[in-house]
Amino acid sequence: MARKRRRKSVDWLIRQIDAQLKSFGTERGNLTLRQKVLALCEVHENVKDLGVNVVHEHGWNACAAVERIRLYFIEHESIVLDSAEIAVVSGISDYPRRIRELRVESGYQIASGSSPDPDSGIVLKPDQYLLVDAAPDLDAARRWHAANRIRRSDVGSQKRLLQYFMENTGKVLTTEELAYVAKEAKEYARRVRELRTEQGYSVATRFTGRPDLKAGQYVLQSRERIAETHDRKIPEAVQKAVYERDSNACRVCAWNHERWNPEDPRILELHHLEHHENRGPNVESNLIVTCSKCHDEVHNGKHTSALKKIKTAL
Ligand SMILES: [Zn+2]
Ligand SMILES: [Zn+2]
Repeated sequence: MARKRRRKSVDWLIRQIDAQLKSFGTERGNLTLRQKVLALCEVHENVKDLGVNVVHEHGWNACAAVERIRLYFIEHESIVLDSAEIAVVSGISDYPRRIRELRVESGYQIASGSSPDPDSGIVLKPDQYLLVDAAPDLDAARRWHAANRIRRSDVGSQKRLLQYFMENTGKVLTTEELAYVAKEAKEYARRVRELRTEQGYSVATRFTGRPDLKAGQYVLQSRERIAETHDRKIPEAVQKAVYERDSNACRVCAWNHERWNPEDPRILELHHLEHHENRGPNVESNLIVTCSKCHDEVHNGKHTSALKKIKTAL
């Protein structure tokens, strides 16, 4: 019976690397390029082992590279990690595939700089990663399956994104999924913005009525509520400012998303104090946050005295 190979200790590896480098230093003058490279390969192997064994010394008995990566991400939730760190911890060169597995099979929201989204609140360089939430999303595996199907349909990227949002109405979607569906690592954020600003879909972020969302998360709140053309032209910065000023709550009844439930699926919207018919300007002082219920009622002539009070208070 084969004896289980003993793991090399960290101390042993350090002594080994030290000796290898010393002899490389003294013999270098007599070596061909090939011999130098081969000598460095041995050092390299030991350095790789050292990274893995440092992880074990830390108390993590993770034999699989993917598990070491997972634990490292969880210990550093919400902290930007360089790909070089993941390479050291995993001891493998195809760690990007393992990171994909963590996303696709286990539901971890790991953002990467290769799919940047300037509106998401996350700024990453191309070789950086960020675990947004240590708790995996159990629905994610099913969603990735749908994302894969939609990605292969031959309509334009905006139509694919809309279909993906529609199939997942009310669900929290991530920048990585959207970039995947759009097949556009750079342009998908703009396409998502167009769904809101050109087509009027209520795609919410942490800046627009859903402070419960994290950076890099999106929700299509309703399939039915499409904003009027005039409302779609409200600049992004103005929208954010109004939601912030009104604390992401309805100015009329104080409803906010914490009270959301399936029996009363309201959303937050912006209402013009001076109405659209009169082409009221798309500026902060003419806009308030309302819940969709109050918004409908306002347009049916209700809440006039409440609106008057709000107007004078602004
Ligand atoms: Zn309301
Ligand atoms: Zn309105």
